Amino acid sequence: MGTSTTALKTRLEGLCERYDTADALDRDPLSVLFGYEGPLDREVAAFVAAHLAYGRVDPMIRAVRAALAPLGARPATWLRERSPAAAQMTLSAALAPWAWRFHTGPDLVAWLLAWKRLDLESGQGLEPHLLPGPGESPDGALSRLVQRLRTELPASYGSRFSLPDPLDGAACKRWRMFLRWMVRTGWPDLGLWSRYPADRLIIPLDTHVARVSRYIGLSHRATPDGKMALEVTDSLRRLDPADPLRYDFALSHLGILGDCPGVRKRPTCAECPLYAVCRAGAARTATH
Ligand code: SF4
Repeated sequence: MGTSTTALKTRLEGLCERYDTADALDRDPLSVLFGYEGPLDREVAAFVAAHLAYGRVDPMIRAVRAALAPLGARPATWLRERSPAAAQMTLSAALAPWAWRFHTGPDLVAWLLAWKRLDLESGQGLEPHLLPGPGESPDGALSRLVQRLRTELPASYGSRFSLPDPLDGAACKRWRMFLRWMVRTGWPDLGLWSRYPADRLIIPLDTHVARVSRYIGLSHRATPDGKMALEVTDSLRRLDPADPLRYDFALSHLGILGDCPGVRKRPTCAECPLYAVCRAGAARTATH
């Protein structure tokens, strides 16, 4: 890393001051979860919201709310109180017209029934299914669940997009986001899972985070894949070993909110806390 750790950390703290805000949270699928009170109800909402977290943010959030609407204010209770057949029949009717880009109503029904099945086995929602076993890495545990879901969900589900496997080198942004929401205790995350190792979380790498990470030297990789997610996370872990994803929300919202032009120059970057450590477009803009 060319920039000193202290300088980078100071700038990233400034980024948090700017983007760790209620307004930014309103433009994030995580905001949907705060409409639910019970921990398992929030987990069901997160399982749906993270899975659908692709595409333009505002219509995506509307699609997530519509997907959860048939389950009422207590989605986990709703799923637990019904037999699989009754839940399937009611949800199939309610979600028949629902769609979000690559996902259809029947996909969502299958996804919710998968949560119900996994919860019935564990009695405690999904955390036991994603906890690493003895000698197993967190990604080994995630891969195990992904492989299981690939066999249990309908063949039409589209395994590569909907069920990426971290051990195949996928960035697994939506699974990483789900885990961050469930495990991290710092704002804005829920911290519902106390047994999962928070210091082993891996960044939910999307195009925005990948781009800005390159600009500030967190990674030099070109492709936003699983290797880059690990490299960015390793760089962030050097800044905060116990909480490597502390800066993820702010990094992603710099891009989501359209505030980063991709070339470091004034006046467009005048407000950016990363200006002093950013190398965006350095080859094209030698002096500023
Ligand atoms: S290009 Fe500008 S806005 Fe984007 S990270 Fe660099 S300084 Fe910040």
